[in-house]
Amino acid sequence: MIRANLGIVEIFGPTLQGEGQVIGRKTLFIRFAGCDYACLWCDSAFTWKPGQIAPVEHLRPHEVLHRLLQLDPQCRDVTLSGGNPALYDLTELVEQLGAHGYRLHVETQGSRAPAWLGRVDSVTISPKPPSSGMDTDWALLQQTVAVSACPDLKVVVFDEADYDYARDLRVRFPNLPFALQVGNRVGDDDTAALLQKLDWLAQRALSDPTMQNVRILPQLHVLLWGNRRGV
Ligand code: SF4
Repeated sequence: MIRANLGIVEIFGPTLQGEGQVIGRKTLFIRFAGCDYACLWCDSAFTWKPGQIAPVEHLRPHEVLHRLLQLDPQCRDVTLSGGNPALYDLTELVEQLGAHGYRLHVETQGSRAPAWLGRVDSVTISPKPPSSGMDTDWALLQQTVAVSACPDLKVVVFDEADYDYARDLRVRFPNLPFALQVGNRVGDDDTAALLQKLDWLAQRALSDPTMQNVRILPQLHVLLWGNRRGV
């Protein structure tokens, strides 16, 4: 069910977008509470997991706008993330921020396809591979891709089974911008381990004819600042 009342765990920035096709870009972040998944390695469990969830604020769109302007009066790039922001009806927020010149980028796993995903500037859809413990609803994923403005795909890869899933996804959606991202086990992986995994993923993809025209990426913010909230 789409939620109309905006539940927000944090609004922060400016920082660097650490993932996907817009990696490295300065952005403000709005992180929504709640997720319809429960990935085994979730690095944002504070948005949804019982016992770990952070305090949730219920803000109206004009209050969100005020917070963004307080954080940086000039920055006009905003990332809507979670949790899963697609659980909410963000039509009014998207309209208000768009009217103030904000460029809106969404991160979601592709399990919900609200119409407002078509009214933002770009949508990174990150279906979850086998290591997450989640199953992909391919029909819903197709709907999310179809409704989204400028969609791109990103898969987090921890192991060979995840890599095979990413190959399957690449074959299903050969024309979308596509990124492979190193899996990050919060609390276990240090920088050296993440770089080692990045090297493995790069070698794997560089020798794979299926993986043409893809990006192979770390989480830039984790390399720079570690697994901290608010970066
Ligand atoms: S979809 Fe994202 S926020 Fe939700 S449980 Fe999985 S990793 Fe965490």
